[in-house]
Amino acid sequence: MNSRKFRLPDGAGTVAFPPSVLNHMYQFAQRRFFAREAGGQLFSPNPEHINVEVTHVSGPNPGDSRSRHGIIWHIGQANMDREKHFASERHAVGLWHTHPEEHPMPSAQDEKTTRQFLEGFHGTMTGFLLIIIGNKGDLPNMAVWLARDGTYQSWIPLVEVRDAQIEAASGTCTANCTEASVTTRPRFSP
Ligand SMILES: [Zn+2]
Repeated sequence: MNSRKFRLPDGAGTVAFPPSVLNHMYQFAQRRFFAREAGGQLFSPNPEHINVEVTHVSGPNPGDSRSRHGIIWHIGQANMDREKHFASERHAVGLWHTHPEEHPMPSAQDEKTTRQFLEGFHGTMTGFLLIIIGNKGDLPNMAVWLARDGTYQSWIPLVEVRDAQIEAASGTCTANCTEASVTTRPRFSP
């Protein structure tokens, strides 16, 4: 199994998910009718880097309230996950959960929840990810969205990129790699 990478908006670089993180989420894909939603948080040691790596994932937690079409996270346990990873210098950069649909799309509530988490950082972060895992295929479809704060709010679907494209976005190219494209990228951490 390979990593999967998605392009951040405005030439800001990429965000990558290694097989360990992907497999953890895939195992909760809602392949059976009675399967319940599962979800948790995403953690990165380098949220300021042009190639953000999501190296760890948490959830679902035992205290979560899970149904086929929803999940209410146990906030205390989610906070403990964040503290545990922060002690190892990993920052929360987003949320993930499953949907009982082949081509997952965020609901209005999903956007609202992602934005509430982002606002909880009180301006120390300007972007927060939401991943949704679909319920069909050996490699489930994976929707990645970015809630952005700042002068204007936005809610942006990220496009999956192939390896050849990643090089162009990573700063290794020799043309059109201006400082401006770097400074406009969303910041994920303090
Ligand atoms: Zn959802």
